[in-house]
Amino acid sequence: MVKFDANMVDNSENEVLFLLSNEAIARGAVEAGVRVATTYPGTPSSEVGDTLSHIAGKSGMKFQFSINEKVAIETAFAASISGQRSMVFMKHVGLNVASDPFMSIAYTGVRAGMVVMSADDPSMYSSQSEQDNRHYADLAHVPMIEPSNPQEAKDFLVLAFDLSEKFKLPVLFRTTTRVSHMRGAVTPGKIREGQPDTGVFIRDIHEFVCLPSNSYTLKEKLIEKEHELKKESDISPMNRIIRKGTGEYGIIASGAAYNSVMDVISEYDLDISVLKLGFTNPLPESAIVKFISDNKKVIIIEELDPYLEYKIRTIAQMNKLDSTIFGKLDGYFSESHEFTPDTVAHSLSRIMGFAVQDVPENKLVLPARPPVLCPGCPHRATYYAVKRAVKMMNKTDTIYASDIGCYSLGLYDPYEEADTMISMGSSIGMANGFAMSTKQKVIAFIGDSTFFHSGIPPLINAVHNKLNMLVMVLDNGTTAMTGQQPNAGENFSPPGDELPPVSIENIARSIGVADVQIVDPYDIKETLKAVTKALRENTLSVIVARRECAILRDKAMQKTHRVITYTVNQDKCGKCMNCVENFACPAISIEGGNIKIDSNICDGCGVCAEPYVCPFKAIEVAQ
Ligand code: SF4
Ligand code: SF4
Repeated sequence: MVKFDANMVDNSENEVLFLLSNEAIARGAVEAGVRVATTYPGTPSSEVGDTLSHIAGKSGMKFQFSINEKVAIETAFAASISGQRSMVFMKHVGLNVASDPFMSIAYTGVRAGMVVMSADDPSMYSSQSEQDNRHYADLAHVPMIEPSNPQEAKDFLVLAFDLSEKFKLPVLFRTTTRVSHMRGAVTPGKIREGQPDTGVFIRDIHEFVCLPSNSYTLKEKLIEKEHELKKESDISPMNRIIRKGTGEYGIIASGAAYNSVMDVISEYDLDISVLKLGFTNPLPESAIVKFISDNKKVIIIEELDPYLEYKIRTIAQMNKLDSTIFGKLDGYFSESHEFTPDTVAHSLSRIMGFAVQDVPENKLVLPARPPVLCPGCPHRATYYAVKRAVKMMNKTDTIYASDIGCYSLGLYDPYEEADTMISMGSSIGMANGFAMSTKQKVIAFIGDSTFFHSGIPPLINAVHNKLNMLVMVLDNGTTAMTGQQPNAGENFSPPGDELPPVSIENIARSIGVADVQIVDPYDIKETLKAVTKALRENTLSVIVARRECAILRDKAMQKTHRVITYTVNQDKCGKCMNCVENFACPAISIEGGNIKIDSNICDGCGVCAEPYVCPFKAIEVAQ
């Protein structure tokens, strides 16, 4: 790690680094002389923040895991208009949260370069939707850059900063999962020297105050800039002809789809020209007109929406070009999910008429495993206690509103405590609606990071409207799902500086929640008592179930070389199956009719040994 950190911030241009695109983006930020970088962690963008949290200080950059994406973009914007290059990055749905200021920032423009990175997730590997954020570039009238590999991720980021400064606009830098998580050789470039360590803001109320009278003029300027940007796109090295065919077929592609296209062309030795687009808003109109004129049949290959296709078909029509265009709108390519070389080959074969070799089916069948909470996860104990309390009180029509985070796994058997989950903070927001429109008891589950991100406003709404619900804040002291990034509840920043932690219970009390309890979820009895009290009282209650993430606990234990595991005393086991069927720690299984604990994955939390889980007290510390 030390060598990696050093290589990431030094100025040697000769040593080739082997990086994920997300790591290359972090290096690009260093090369571009970024002084302020902000984010809210979200896969597939997380490694940018994880890398910057190690190297930012060494490169003179201030880096922050912000409380949410809106705060992150506003923080970065203030740095930019104070003369410091700034970068903000997030997953695609994070840009929805940040979209309100993003639209206004396009109007005001920026001073020092500012890049907004959106990491989109075709096929939804870790997301609730696969929205295509290229539309945000159109919506905001800002330039958009799309790299296809780690080298481009770094190089294009540096170019994006230059572009941002030249046009005084934020630049949308869009990756997708497949690009963000691709690893490859990256040749570092020179680090831009002379960036100011401290910003200075010079006031100009006509520039930065979006009153209607100002915005009216700013909109006109924005459209003028967009026209100028078209010329820039036409001469940009990010848009280029990669390969020339004989003029029968041409492909226009960008991002991850371009990689699949090149694989297929090489595999089938196709006679085809390729126009690769990296600067995708506005499009290089002259280059596209020439490319279409040079090829009789043009195929547009892009993942998700027909974003390029609509624009390119418009360009062709406006310029009265008579080449035939193929794409998604005529059904040759899918509008959902990411592409593979195989899917691209099949679609191309329908257009070009070559025979496709079917990829041999992968004979290695992996066992189907439902996603599970980790062994020792405190959320399991919370879900177990809540389910038991609800059952004891016979609240058969309870509604469980869940949220984004590890605890969304509470959806699965045997807990089944997630009836809804749509976006960050939506558990408490939807609980508001259920409490208003039904007579059922509502329990909202939310994590600590998500609470800070967007759980506080709906809780204020619930207090103000006297709504009856139980809010369970599952506080494991980290943003666990994206890789243990710190949040406002902790007392340190990424490089290890001490910071004041923000108290969830104090927030709840200060906005008027009268019934606030704090429990240790490993103490099932205490948690049961708190939940039953809250369910009985028919009011707004908040329970903070606080216990650190099992992964953090494991790391701390490994340092002390104290490894405790549990085992089942077969003489005492009454074969009631409660530990397997209702508690369901993945370390516990049935083998030959007996209950076994796998010492390789048991992390020694000891919750299964509680009499509320094992009534026969058969689970003991392994000797
Ligand atoms: S002690 Fe029990 S509950 Fe905890 S990890 Fe081990 S088997 Fe699972
Ligand atoms: S809960 Fe205890 S008694 Fe029941 S099956 Fe598990 S180990 Fe045996």
